[in-house]
Amino acid sequence: MSFDVQAIRAQFPILAQQINGNPLVYLDNGATTQKPDAVIDAISNFYRHDNSNVHRGAHTLSDRATSAFEQARVAVQGLLNAGSSDEIIWTKGTTESVNLVAFSWGQANLKPGDRVLVSAMEHHANIVPWQLVCAKTGAEVVPIPVTDAGELDLEALDGLLDERVKFVSIVHVSNALGTVNPVAEIIARAHRVGALVMVDGAQAVAHFDLDMQALDCDFYTFSGHKLFGPTGIGALYGKMALLEAMPPFMGGGEMIETVSFEQTTFNRVPYKFEPGTPNIAGAVGLAAAITWFNGLDRAAMMAHEQAVLDYAVECAHNYPGLTLIGQADQRAGVLSFVLDGSHPHDVGTLLDQQGVAVRTGSHCAMPIMSRLGVSGTVRASFALYNTREDVDALFAALDKVKLFLF
Ligand SMILES: *Cc1c(COP(=O)(O)O)cnc(C)c1O
Repeated sequence: MSFDVQAIRAQFPILAQQINGNPLVYLDNGATTQKPDAVIDAISNFYRHDNSNVHRGAHTLSDRATSAFEQARVAVQGLLNAGSSDEIIWTKGTTESVNLVAFSWGQANLKPGDRVLVSAMEHHANIVPWQLVCAKTGAEVVPIPVTDAGELDLEALDGLLDERVKFVSIVHVSNALGTVNPVAEIIARAHRVGALVMVDGAQAVAHFDLDMQALDCDFYTFSGHKLFGPTGIGALYGKMALLEAMPPFMGGGEMIETVSFEQTTFNRVPYKFEPGTPNIAGAVGLAAAITWFNGLDRAAMMAHEQAVLDYAVECAHNYPGLTLIGQADQRAGVLSFVLDGSHPHDVGTLLDQQGVAVRTGSHCAMPIMSRLGVSGTVRASFALYNTREDVDALFAALDKVKLFLF
């Protein structure tokens, strides 16, 4: 197999359109990825043929929906190489997963004097839940410093890791800078002081092979919509012993075994964490995305993505008046920059007029923006369907932005 990017693009109907009279160049994959026909069809087929509630009906459609829903869990297990599909909990996405762990594990285990480390490059979704829980428990959120290049300061991490640290929650790939963090190393170091580790894989899952067992990760999470799947569905991986010891995060139907006013007992993991009717069609769509993704030649895909990003970085280095924000050695999927003398938002609007979709602003990561001395950036973020031609289109459009602005 090799990586035929044009054949892949042809499977994404949304890409074949004009925006403001120009071919769409979609470079906002860090915010969400587009969906291939396989995913759109799977969701449509589910609603046309199999739709029903799960785990409760005494009829054929409910059996079909339940089986598709549970097979989707197995697909996520395979994607993450988790030891058991029972270690996969459905959530709305990364944000809900972090809240689940922060509130369920944190409220049961954190006490005054304890510390939770997060990095200075986290998405707000991996900062604010910990701040909320620490405000309730008296524990403290402490940021792990980031270097000027936008890399995690591992020496500073070593200095912070002591017996006060009970939990480390860290992003795998920064959505603001593209920095790839050495998560295996961070997990090993945190475990040496007895701390648990959660990894926010929202930006990693579409770019790398993942292996929970090799990483010895305690918790890992991602959002389906950043892996060519639908919005509103994501997954939390957790080690079974940890999940079993954690109290429920939300209450309702499905997550209980028996309910009475004397005593309510809870269902087993993963159902203990899945109250109410889940996003069944979302799980079916995500399973289709994973099956589609697994059908690609992964090594060829990674080589293609690296070549496109390297080319973008090279163009950026040669572009007058452009400053890259984040210069980490290991990067994936993201080119974050500012143009001298211009506001990122103006650049984004002028790019859109030429059909180039990027994101501008602080990318839900205000602390890293202030650490690196910018209020925001222009972010071009790449997926497997992007090409060198997309990069050329971005820089040609930037030429026109400059003519307009200066
Ligand atoms: C997108 C993103 C999130 C939040 O994901 P949601 O799907 O909005 O819940 C968290 N962390 C990172 C690194 C992200 O890129």
